[in-house]
Amino acid sequence: METMVWIVDKNGEQLTGCPQLKEAAILLSHNEVVAFPTETVYGLGGNALVNEAIDKIYAAKGRPSDNPLIVHISDYAQLKEVVSQVPEKAEALIKAFWPGPLTLVLPKGKDVADKVTAGLDTVAVRMPDHPVALALIELAGVPIAAPSANLSGKPSPTAAKHVYDDLKGRISGLVDGGETGVGVESTVVDCTEEVPMILRPGGVTKEQLEHVVGEVSVDPALSENGQAPRSPGVKYKHYAPKGEMYLVSGGREFIQQLVRKEQDKGHKVGVLTTSENETYYKADLVLACGVRADLQSVARRLYDALRTFDDHDVHIIFSEVFPEEGVGKAVMNRLEKAASGNFICQ
Ligand code: AMP
Ligand code: MG
Repeated sequence: METMVWIVDKNGEQLTGCPQLKEAAILLSHNEVVAFPTETVYGLGGNALVNEAIDKIYAAKGRPSDNPLIVHISDYAQLKEVVSQVPEKAEALIKAFWPGPLTLVLPKGKDVADKVTAGLDTVAVRMPDHPVALALIELAGVPIAAPSANLSGKPSPTAAKHVYDDLKGRISGLVDGGETGVGVESTVVDCTEEVPMILRPGGVTKEQLEHVVGEVSVDPALSENGQAPRSPGVKYKHYAPKGEMYLVSGGREFIQQLVRKEQDKGHKVGVLTTSENETYYKADLVLACGVRADLQSVARRLYDALRTFDDHDVHIIFSEVFPEEGVGKAVMNRLEKAASGNFICQ
């Protein structure tokens, strides 16, 4: 299959008049799949009302079909096409955070294709805060189901190049709107019970949610091993680079010793750090992922760094750890998955 690529300036005026986006929207309306930028990561979109389009998303990604997709909408009226009910607290969260990196799990509307929700009677929905995504959904005229546009298991794409590397020849189109902003996926919150529950940490923090709706709980499976997660996708291997990754809690001297030991065994070793420590480490590849003092900048660069280790065929990666505050919670959640739980303590 040929993958069409359109370059679109996200700061352009009147994006709904943009010929490239119109072409992409026509493909979507023919139930083809098209990747596009959002403020979190690139998504792989398909018509959320048609199973045929959803099958193509799962096939292109190699995603297990019991892992439901997030439906993206471009205006508030569209919400009625996707969900059957909006409880009061969900309404308050929508007012406070949409458009933005917050996904709500709500009772499913009858027109949403079964395969979007993997047979569940709830559906995940959000309104992305990205002019290209909003214009494309509006032009398509239907809600768009869109998981991250990576091969299943790999780090999510934060640039069009990442999507192209993974999905070239497997999807009909790719809208290149430049690098995404937040860098980690949306926060997923289940709003079907009285107390909203975070199923996946992300761009909107627990503190921000509590400020709007009071008590918010966290799915215990996120912190306790062995618990079945309520968000089906959370149980899968995710974000993993090809090299073996270890999270290291300890000083930089300790990490440097680990590097040297592995290099002595003939391994190609990488270190994931931030610009504060970039020049300290001596390894085969040292990548600075933002600034430690600004965890948002770490989130933004994280997936690109994981993919760069792959590009250089690094065997072993040692990563510094980050405080689990604010968006640091999402950063550590993704790093723990990327490392499959490998943890070294000084
Ligand atoms: P992705 O689209 O790759 O960012 O992943 C979407 C996340 O939302 C996965 O972790 C899914 O399991 C989760 N999700 C989607 N729909 C639902 C739902 N109805 N209930 C709970 N979690 C969901
Ligand atoms: Mg994903």
